[in-house]
Amino acid sequence: MSSSAPLNPAQHEAVRHLATPCLVLAGAGSGKTRVITHKIARLLQHGLAPREIAAITFTNKAAAEMRERARALVGARAARELAISTFHALGLRILRTDGERIGLKPSFSVLDADDVQGVLRDAGGSTDNRLARHWQWKISLWKNQGLDADAAERAARDDDERQAARMMRRCAERLAAYQAVDFDDLIGLPLALLQRDAEACARWRAAFGHVLVDEYQDTNAVQYELLKALVGERGPNGQFTAVGDDDQSIYGWRGATIENLERLPQDYPQLRIIALEQNYRSTGHILRAANAVIAGNPKLFDKKLWSELGEGEPVRVLECDGEEHEAERAVAHIQALRGSAGAKFCDIAVLYRANHQSRAFEHKLRAAQIPYKVSGGQSWFDRAEIKDLCAWLRLLVNQDDDPAFLRAATTPRRGIGHRTLATLGEFAAKWKVSLFEAVFAPTLPAVLEGKALDTLAQFGREVNELEYRARHACGGDEARALLLGWLQAIGYEQHLHDGEDSAKLAQARWANVLDFVDWIARRCGGQLTHEAGSFESAKLSLLDVAQTIAVILSLAERGDQQDVVTLSTLHAAKGLEWPHVVLAGVNEGLLPFRAADEEMSAERLQEERRLMYVGITRAQRTLTVSTLRRRKRGRETVAGVPSRFIAEMKLDEIVAKADPRERLRRLRDELAARSAANKAAAAAD
Ligand code: ATP
Ligand code: MG
Repeated sequence: MSSSAPLNPAQHEAVRHLATPCLVLAGAGSGKTRVITHKIARLLQHGLAPREIAAITFTNKAAAEMRERARALVGARAARELAISTFHALGLRILRTDGERIGLKPSFSVLDADDVQGVLRDAGGSTDNRLARHWQWKISLWKNQGLDADAAERAARDDDERQAARMMRRCAERLAAYQAVDFDDLIGLPLALLQRDAEACARWRAAFGHVLVDEYQDTNAVQYELLKALVGERGPNGQFTAVGDDDQSIYGWRGATIENLERLPQDYPQLRIIALEQNYRSTGHILRAANAVIAGNPKLFDKKLWSELGEGEPVRVLECDGEEHEAERAVAHIQALRGSAGAKFCDIAVLYRANHQSRAFEHKLRAAQIPYKVSGGQSWFDRAEIKDLCAWLRLLVNQDDDPAFLRAATTPRRGIGHRTLATLGEFAAKWKVSLFEAVFAPTLPAVLEGKALDTLAQFGREVNELEYRARHACGGDEARALLLGWLQAIGYEQHLHDGEDSAKLAQARWANVLDFVDWIARRCGGQLTHEAGSFESAKLSLLDVAQTIAVILSLAERGDQQDVVTLSTLHAAKGLEWPHVVLAGVNEGLLPFRAADEEMSAERLQEERRLMYVGITRAQRTLTVSTLRRRKRGRETVAGVPSRFIAEMKLDEIVAKADPRERLRRLRDELAARSAANKAAAAAD
């Protein structure tokens, strides 16, 4: 949609309203995000400088997209200066500026979830990944409710929770000593800072003339408090615009609370609430199915949605024999869309509930040579074992990379204990040097001695030696030999077995490591490859390749612009739209998702229903829902039951009304899709 289409009267009102805080509460595709971008332009006209406008989005990707949309409205220069970011990135900015006021050195590190798991394993004296993940989950929920370790200990109801609360305390002590924070701290610490430090709080409030929040329904308690701290409780600085849809609240499991919507009018009595009712995204059939599904949930706020885009094509339901067959049919459908509807690959998305569902689709898409990207799932580089290796490589390239240092120094364990690292962290903070530099500081023996000092020095020597060898290991064969030899020297395979209960899982992780080594070796070149024909490609050193890994990663992220099919979890699809959407695996147990032994509460079912609603409303022109007659559960195959949400779409009522010509056309499409499927299958064989 071009940015020049006029706003409707309700959107216009939301954009122009500046006197008091404003909440736009409206259904999917009604132009809420569009209101935010237009309001940015309005605020600039009103005299705010770009940097005084903070727009908060849910993901980095959404932030990039919003900046792009803003650029079309306000020009490149202003768009560059706008403070568009996620809550986390904003928190990071506050801490980098003012963290010293709460005892953080300006170059503190941010540990990702995986690094924190390592700290927890260490804090608990355990090698059990599952247990560490369990603690991490609990701790994160507590932090998102605004509880610290003291409060968590008081709130703990049983031994399990008491243990998690103890781990929370130990983890916090360790992170403080390492001068590191985790993702949740990026919200909690800035909030604590603004609440405790009146001077800093006044400065940040003055910095932003207006704060805009997209996807407000998915903020958690701490994010809401941070927003309040930034805009002020009441008074002239309480200028913000939030947009959201209670029917799309899908992060309850991560501590987001719909109560934030109810609290807003109480905390800000002058709040102007604006509803939007016209949907600009989807055709009639799709919108009706969405409305019918969400009608099954209790209504917090009553909303109506209508569309002027015509009836469009009916929603199709595909029954498939199993995951493979489902993926084949999706591929055939994609090929048919390209042929008959002239769709581009980037017009098409396959959405599913759980990460693992992407596998079959990836496999069939690759076989059919259809380009795709996976979003929201775990990319290869996010796997713990790959990240361990990347930490070493990162450290070779940049010895100031403190998180990489912490990870490499403790994975696998090599006798560098928590106390040693804490002392090293304090020393590094005091002298404003990196952890790696601190290891070689002539004055370190004043604070560390004996074995602790020796193991650190040994580690430092190993990193230097590896760096030297990586610089001289040229070409794939040498790089592979170096990596494999080194993995053996640090006992990495054994480390994987120690960390997993299941040998099979440990083997799978080791297979990933070997894949990674291959991948690096190929990049070091000098091998006979398909692409290189019979010529030897240029040889690079392992260190050169380590240096390009960061670049390769950022290129993979930028892959967005290309013409590729999107595979995405429903959670990661929030806020986005595609002309053609396939909703896959719409089965009981998968969507609504239910763990094997789970007693599903009414609240959980409602959240799953909202996910279905989010999925349906991503589609602009066609929606295909596929369901499995048989599905895999762990290692067994079980009978598949179509999701109750399919019946709830009430498609029969609509199909019965469809005219005969329409039915004939659908039959033809179906036949075309089948013959394409057969061709694809033959080609894949
Ligand atoms: P979601 O709930 O999924 O986040 P949303 O309410 O944020 O949806 P947008 O993404 O802003 O909706 O808008 C949906 C689509 O409708 C976009 O393609 C947008 O450009 C278009 N649109 C919004 N408002 C208008 C309008 N007044 N005229 C024409 N098109 C519009
Ligand atoms: Mg939106």
